Amino acid sequence: MSSRETLDPRIADIVIIGSGMAGLAAARHAHAAGRSVCILDKGRRIGGRVSTRRADGFTFNHGAQFLTARQPDFISACDSAQDAGALRPWRVAGRDAFCGAPTMRDLPAFLGEGLVIRQQVEITVITRDDGLITFHDANGPVARGRQALITAPAPQAARLLEPVARELAATARSAAYAPCWTGMYGFADQDMPDITGPVSADSGPVGWACWESGRPGADAGAAALVVQAAPDWSEAQLERDAGSIGEVLLAAWQDLVGASLPTPTYDKAHRWRYARVVRPADADAPRQTADGMIAIAGDWIAGARVEDAFMSGHRAMSSLLGINAKV
Ligand SMILES: Cc1cc2nc3c(=O)[nH]c(=O)nc-3n(C[C@H](O)[C@H](O)[C@H](O)COP(=O)(O)OP(=O)(O)OC[C@H]3O[C@@H](n4cnc5c(N)ncnc54)[C@H](O)[C@@H]3O)c2cc1C
Repeated sequence: MSSRETLDPRIADIVIIGSGMAGLAAARHAHAAGRSVCILDKGRRIGGRVSTRRADGFTFNHGAQFLTARQPDFISACDSAQDAGALRPWRVAGRDAFCGAPTMRDLPAFLGEGLVIRQQVEITVITRDDGLITFHDANGPVARGRQALITAPAPQAARLLEPVARELAATARSAAYAPCWTGMYGFADQDMPDITGPVSADSGPVGWACWESGRPGADAGAAALVVQAAPDWSEAQLERDAGSIGEVLLAAWQDLVGASLPTPTYDKAHRWRYARVVRPADADAPRQTADGMIAIAGDWIAGARVEDAFMSGHRAMSSLLGINAKV
């Protein structure tokens, strides 16, 4: 179905761009406050960078690897997710680490339950008129709202905001990201080297790697390996083709752990152009327009982690709702 066919004639109280952690936190907050809220996201599936790819019988958590919960509102959401079985402690990744169960995407899927979310809708233009905000994809208008929250990664948010909220576009331009090349490898042979724990390194091609079967609740049968490159290396190799990156990362992982693997039956690399925030937005730059119609959120507002994204979305919505207004 095209986005035009799914056009909802109603005007939402709040339209949110992005079904990542920031957008979901904000939408849950608005929904709980009794507002009508609609999330639009260009991706195929919910969760943004908290993502899981299934291919050829393998499962790869190729975005965020784990998370921590240290702030009350996020702890509360994580407690609910744990009760529902969508999140589990993963001590091997850190003393207070959690991961989605059985996959990372199960966390955003849980958080999105009961919300209106339209995936595969890529917003290209935002306009304002008559006290309303209209969201357009390549074919025309797809949604209207009284207020808007933009949670796309900063460079993408800046492009959307420039015509309607130049001050927020400037805020977005003050943030910066490091990229991350991620290799995903699936093996037909179940008899893999006995390395269960994740590998973490500060520099060199390999920044983090783990066998998917080592995650709590994961399918122990499928031999699937994720190797994420360190930020500097990813930056230096950013425009290389994915095929050659996949080979280099797998060879680097084998060198690092002293293992020798058979040829994978699945071998793909994914380029995260905006992976981890290396410089959040200026602390004193505006987070919403003076009239309170448009606000911004995302990890780039507050930090670099899943929890930062969630808290940023929650705070931005508090501000839009006019309660607890401190962004
Ligand atoms: C490889 C990698 C590893 C990571 N590891 C960790 C980790 O171990 N622990 C941790 O805490 N964090 C980690 N992170 C960071 C964490 O994933 C992010 O901080 C967090 O998920 C960001 O959430 P967000 O909602 O701000 O943005 P996103 O998840 O990026 O969500 C933004 C959404 O906006 C949508 N969008 C963008 N433009 C448009 C448009 N024009 N129209 C419609 N939709 C649009 C996108 O499709 C996306 O779904 C990692 C990130 C990456 C990439």
